[in-house]
Amino acid sequence: MMINTKQEYDVLIVGGGNAALCAAIAARRNGATVLILESAPKFYRGGNTRHTRNMRCAHDAATATLSGPYLEDEFFDDLLRVTGGNTDETLAKMMIAESKDMLNWIVQQGVRFQPSLGGTLSLGRTNSFFLGGGRAMLNALYRTAEHLGVDVVYDAEVVDLDFEGPRFRSATVSREGKTQRISAKALVAAAGGFEANIEWLKEGWGEAAENFLIRGTPYNRGVLLKALLRAGARQIGDTTQCHAVAIDARAPKFDGGIITRLDCVVFGIVVNKNAERFYDEGEDVWPKRYAIWGRLVAAQPDQIAYIIFDAASLELFMPSLYPPVKAATIEELAQKLGLDDEALAKTLADFNAAVRPGTFDPTILDDCSTEGIEPKKSHWARRIQKAPFYAYPVRPGITFTYLGVRVDEKARIVMDDGRTAENAFAAGEIMAGNVLGQGYAAGIGMTIGSVFGRIAGREAAFAMSADETRPSRPLETA
Ligand SMILES: Cc1cc2nc3c(=O)[nH]c(=O)nc-3n(C[C@H](O)[C@H](O)[C@H](O)COP(=O)(O)OP(=O)(O)OC[C@H]3O[C@@H](n4cnc5c(N)ncnc54)[C@H](O)[C@@H]3O)c2cc1C
Repeated sequence: MMINTKQEYDVLIVGGGNAALCAAIAARRNGATVLILESAPKFYRGGNTRHTRNMRCAHDAATATLSGPYLEDEFFDDLLRVTGGNTDETLAKMMIAESKDMLNWIVQQGVRFQPSLGGTLSLGRTNSFFLGGGRAMLNALYRTAEHLGVDVVYDAEVVDLDFEGPRFRSATVSREGKTQRISAKALVAAAGGFEANIEWLKEGWGEAAENFLIRGTPYNRGVLLKALLRAGARQIGDTTQCHAVAIDARAPKFDGGIITRLDCVVFGIVVNKNAERFYDEGEDVWPKRYAIWGRLVAAQPDQIAYIIFDAASLELFMPSLYPPVKAATIEELAQKLGLDDEALAKTLADFNAAVRPGTFDPTILDDCSTEGIEPKKSHWARRIQKAPFYAYPVRPGITFTYLGVRVDEKARIVMDDGRTAENAFAAGEIMAGNVLGQGYAAGIGMTIGSVFGRIAGREAAFAMSADETRPSRPLETA
């Protein structure tokens, strides 16, 4: 089926995740006709948003689902800390201020929240959890968008864009083996990052990228991002910046989602394929450290590592999809993992000998540490000695990339020559690098998509063609 090109839409939205849907709803509520083009088939619609659980928004007081206040200043301080100051302060502050209203707005669009569950990185005060997870959240947004009259076409990949200077003209869409041109008065680019494009990842990571697992959708290949850069949009960020965690090496190449993540590093030791430790497993509380382990494993030979622990720790963390590898002795465990058994036994003996007595407490930065060993384990260091022994093999799991297009406070794309695009906007992963120069704090991906998506949709609705007058006030209700 060809897309109906007789009707020229006011706003063309490329992508089908949170950013796209927030933009579509906001544009439609501001009176625009809206078409969404989503490259995935309907079942897989919604990209990485399908896998999410929560969103980080500022709020002045506790709510029915949030355990306490999270003020704008604290949110900003958290962002500064995780990015090491590598953020656009103006955009970040604007996003955080706008995030306050997002808690109400997104509920008005049909999304429901629930209190956080245990084992979710202790985010009950700062992050709002979606009732039923990301897929339920997305389904609610699609329902609302369709109810408002937004048209959605699946299996429709935008492969190219036509710009005249800073003005968007049309998009080339590939569908069922044919290409078509779709013109619209404004464009919202919300097609995610390029994390599923291994060749592009290789430009920054080299051959190591072949061993990366992609935690989310195989459809975020950066095709639209490339088209925007070709059309003259200004790039922000570099190829290696991304969110990456250590996930079970047995996970599928794509779309393994949240259940392949492993949260037991702090309870054991982590060794590489030479059975050598390479980083302080107990450096800080896990919510502050989980997002560094993807990079750490990426730097190891063959991009593989093994978390080793014993029976004393088995029930201290949330179980993941696959059971751990289990063995009666360390030597047997090494054989099952394909590691040199003598080397692993020595690493373990050295570690055990370096453990100093302390009071083990996984809820605080306790005083259980090692002495006289490199790398040190700063907290939660206990001898690994109680059979059976366990291991999880881990690989870098790429969540999403940060290289994207530069935007301004109205989510307008900035062109390489410094001009601002007249009618082209971006939201979500495709512009995440404006806020996230590096690092990550849980829940910010959805904040970026929701806030910039809503702004992009609203602004796109007002980006009339040159000969039309621009309404002076937003019309949005609900
Ligand atoms: C396992 C996992 C768990 C996560 N958990 C959280 C969480 O709890 N909280 C949080 O804030 N963030 C989380 N994230 C990050 C979060 O998913 C993203 O930041 C967010 O969903 C991005 O939204 P988006 O709309 O920009 O992109 P996506 O939701 O990925 O949507 C992009 C869409 O664009 C489509 N597309 C791509 N290219 C084209 C094209 N050329 N033409 C047409 N369509 C195209 C894709 O099919 C997809 O539907 C998680 C990510 C993963 C992988």
